Amino acid sequence: MNRHVLDELKRQIPLLDYLQAQDWRPSRSLGRDRCLGLCPLHQDHKPSFLVDSNKGLFYCYGCGRGGDVIRFVELYHQVRFPQALALLRRWSGLGTLLNEAASFYRLQLHRHGEAVAYLHQRGVRSSELIEHMRIGYAPGGCLRGWLSELSYSPATLRQVGLVTPSGYDTYIRRIVFPLEGNLYGRSVSDTAPPHRFLPTEKGGLYYWQQVRRYPEVILVEGLFDYAVLWQAGFRNVTCSLGSHLNALQLRQLCDHKRTVYIAFDADSNDSGRRAAQTLARRLGEHGLKPLTVSLPIGHDPNSFFVQGGDARQFQALLEAAQP
Ligand SMILES: [Zn+2]
Repeated sequence: MNRHVLDELKRQIPLLDYLQAQDWRPSRSLGRDRCLGLCPLHQDHKPSFLVDSNKGLFYCYGCGRGGDVIRFVELYHQVRFPQALALLRRWSGLGTLLNEAASFYRLQLHRHGEAVAYLHQRGVRSSELIEHMRIGYAPGGCLRGWLSELSYSPATLRQVGLVTPSGYDTYIRRIVFPLEGNLYGRSVSDTAPPHRFLPTEKGGLYYWQQVRRYPEVILVEGLFDYAVLWQAGFRNVTCSLGSHLNALQLRQLCDHKRTVYIAFDADSNDSGRRAAQTLARRLGEHGLKPLTVSLPIGHDPNSFFVQGGDARQFQALLEAAQP
């Protein structure tokens, strides 16, 4: 690998940008180019992760690891050098495009009454929450034109999955939530499949870097579950986007001994409860303390709040959670 090629890649992807995209936030500035925050590589309790944004280097006084953005990706995703390079390349191209799409969808949200009505129906009301989750709306039939004006080729848009092979917007009448390297679209119409992702990986746990510092975390299946809990004041909540956790999500959850409240759907066919039990067993094997939250049958955390449940009642469910 040519030195110039590596330097060029690092110039295109500043370390601090990459860290911030993983939800890392500095807790203290040490002058113009240097800042300190919690280490994303080990369970850190006082900020020991030093970033020099000018040099593009990090060093952790806690776990003793350091290096450039490529080294960070190797350690953070536990991959080898060539895979780290491939990951960074893909991330930089894809990330920019998905940000453009997400910004466009956010502008559409308040222009479409059906989108706002749907959010209200799912209990999402606070503008702070909409801002926090960067919620948008895909009306359909206009994203492709917008991105083409920004000089994205039809081939790129098809490859990422934002546009169908026949050239139409993939997301039509969907509430859109940006994820790390993906976009989740929830249909507001009953006739379309409810959940949709782009054909890239689902990524890690939702907002994990902000949640991992809590000794007790609440794990939910869906983003609307996350939304109502966050709105009700629970900040130690994260979401796995489905009841099956991928390898990265499992690794994240197990990076420290913590209590995990599993608040999956209590569907009448029992599949949510079975998924919760399987997960609880796996977490237990990793030395964590999993507790299963029992919602009333037929409810998920979203419907619990939508149908009048409040923070105090949900807190009672947490306290009644069973190992
Ligand atoms: Zn560290």
